[in-house]
Amino acid sequence: MINRRAFEIGSFKVAPGARKTVDLPVSVLSDHTPVTMSVHVIHGRRPGPVVFVSAAIHGDEVIGVEIARRVLRAPNLDTLKGTLLVIPIVNAFGFHNHSRYLPDRRDLNRSFPGSERGSMASRLANLFMTEIVCRADLGIDLHSAAIHRTNLPQIRVSPSKEETMELAEAFGAPVILTSKLREGSLREAAHKKDVDILIYEAGEGLRFDEMAIRAGVSGILRVLRKLGMISGKGVTRPKAVSIRTSSSSWVRAPAGGLLRPFKSVGEVVERDDLLGIVSDPFGEVEKEIIAPDGGLIIGRTNLPTIYEGDGLFHIAEIRKHRDPAGTVDSLASQHMADPLFDEDEII
Ligand SMILES: [Zn+2]
Repeated sequence: MINRRAFEIGSFKVAPGARKTVDLPVSVLSDHTPVTMSVHVIHGRRPGPVVFVSAAIHGDEVIGVEIARRVLRAPNLDTLKGTLLVIPIVNAFGFHNHSRYLPDRRDLNRSFPGSERGSMASRLANLFMTEIVCRADLGIDLHSAAIHRTNLPQIRVSPSKEETMELAEAFGAPVILTSKLREGSLREAAHKKDVDILIYEAGEGLRFDEMAIRAGVSGILRVLRKLGMISGKGVTRPKAVSIRTSSSSWVRAPAGGLLRPFKSVGEVVERDDLLGIVSDPFGEVEKEIIAPDGGLIIGRTNLPTIYEGDGLFHIAEIRKHRDPAGTVDSLASQHMADPLFDEDEII
């Protein structure tokens, strides 16, 4: 047995072969309630990479919290090589308030890398950078669409290392979107520390979506498998290769009114296809929403009452793919039939 050191985080130590939830102090609320960022540390007996899985950086994106909960039940983690840090709720303030933001109305994912003496958001970002990102080799950060919108499960990545793209492919989400780094985001701050992040975007804010949850759990286990951290037991290979894209745009509402959408996430559209109709409440004026370009719908509003300029359909360009609709269908049906989620397994 290699003489492996305990994993140190905050003022805590986790011995090799142990797992423990540690509560890192964040702040105290105005009524004296303490706020913590709780991290579940699984420190394997054998060496390997340090990977973190984080969720609810946007407090209302609860789907990632459920994904994290299910990942922690995976039996494969008992013989983990390396160290896994799971932070189901990064932004506890927003989680309590069903809000994307912090009480100071800031967006945590625009506040990285943060600072010790900055705003509340900046301090939390700094804590996350210091205690989590700076100890990790890779991060998987879980998000959903904003409230009243839904996303087709997708990985967003801006890889600095070649292996990261291989890990994105191993995840097996229907879509991989290579996108630019956004200023102040966790992904940008981590990139500067040479830590790549796979962003998993799936489902709707404040809602669970079973397929999106399963795709997230399977994807995380596949990445850990690819890194050699867990055994392959119960971890399936994706039945299809993810659709790659580097360009996407929103089709916005031409007017306010009532939306009748005719297309949903996962559907492929051609240029000039009718996506939906916006009407006024009297039915006197109707405006057609026409696809300006072909592509795959990777996001959509679920709210039928809309303002002019609202993002309605998020369409990704897919030039080189032969059968995008077939890929989405086969990956979705694979997750719904995955024995990993049988009652006596990890669900
Ligand atoms: Zn988010």
